[in-house]
Amino acid sequence: MIDMERKKMCGLSAGEMHDFIKNEGFSHEHALALANAIYKKGAGNFFSIPKIPKKLMGFLSSCAVTGVYSPVTSEKSSDGTKKYLFTNQDGLHFESVFIPDGKRNTVCVSTQSGCRMGCPFCVTGKYGFHGNLDAGDIVNQVIGISEADTITHVVFMGMGEPMDNIENVIKACGILSAEWGKALSQANITISTVGITPGVKKFLEKSGCNLTLSLFSPFPDERRMVVPAETKYPANSIIDIMKSYPLGKKRRLSVAYVMINGVNDTDRHLGGLKELLGRTGIRVNLLPYHRIGNDINRSSPVERMMYFKHNLVTSGISASIRKSRGADISAACGLLASGFKHEAL
Ligand code: SF4
Repeated sequence: MIDMERKKMCGLSAGEMHDFIKNEGFSHEHALALANAIYKKGAGNFFSIPKIPKKLMGFLSSCAVTGVYSPVTSEKSSDGTKKYLFTNQDGLHFESVFIPDGKRNTVCVSTQSGCRMGCPFCVTGKYGFHGNLDAGDIVNQVIGISEADTITHVVFMGMGEPMDNIENVIKACGILSAEWGKALSQANITISTVGITPGVKKFLEKSGCNLTLSLFSPFPDERRMVVPAETKYPANSIIDIMKSYPLGKKRRLSVAYVMINGVNDTDRHLGGLKELLGRTGIRVNLLPYHRIGNDINRSSPVERMMYFKHNLVTSGISASIRKSRGADISAACGLLASGFKHEAL
């Protein structure tokens, strides 16, 4: 539990840390040493930071906390995926997932406790909305876990809709990619959204990280039934915005397409996808579907997913099939918060 009276350093930029200490006579270099220790080493207290003077340690200990905290519990999947449960100083519960894959170690982070988008297939949606996470809480899901030193990629695909908490998401992306921060490449940080127009515009203007739009169907009427945000923020208009931003050398814009057997995996859907995404430079990630509760739906078979991939690629649209990870501990897409108390289940 973090002392609410004290200033929390995790979540601040190096410049903001300098603003906090400069009146005591400390320099920008001191702030850089502080930021490096917190974001790269996960320093839990000021006395463990080697490059700052004792006087600064004393000052910070009297009125600040590092803001780095450990998860409350963790659960490991048979495939090595590990799910962490955190509780922040406001008592909000949220989860992150560590996904090892050869040399690539990814953390999937949450941006909110619960979610207010109400997508009916999503367990997090059923948990309801409990509050936004600040930039420190988001970054802490990467630096506060035991695998922090090994992380190569971060995906914002956990609990919550990132564009519904856009300022904190942009700030967290900045900290994770800054030299004085976690120093990950922006090309290795991906934000996943159902598409909230103002948030998407702001994100593409202010961040160089990757963006993935959850599509479900290329047809608005079908998408609206699964992604209620479609009514206010149609996928067509989000894709137009994505198309209008020139791709940086490293930035990737993509669409996530969860495939459900006999529901959105027909040739008609394939044709719709080609029409919507042809010549846009937007890639397609094909994902298996995870059932929840008494759901009668099933994931599309691998052969059907391969068929979609092949046809998209031969039409000039980059496509890949993503593996399913961590389903046995409810850490897969759409399953976070399944261990929480649900008002709606
Ligand atoms: S799918 Fe994403 S946006 Fe929809 S309810 Fe779940 S967490 Fe929220």
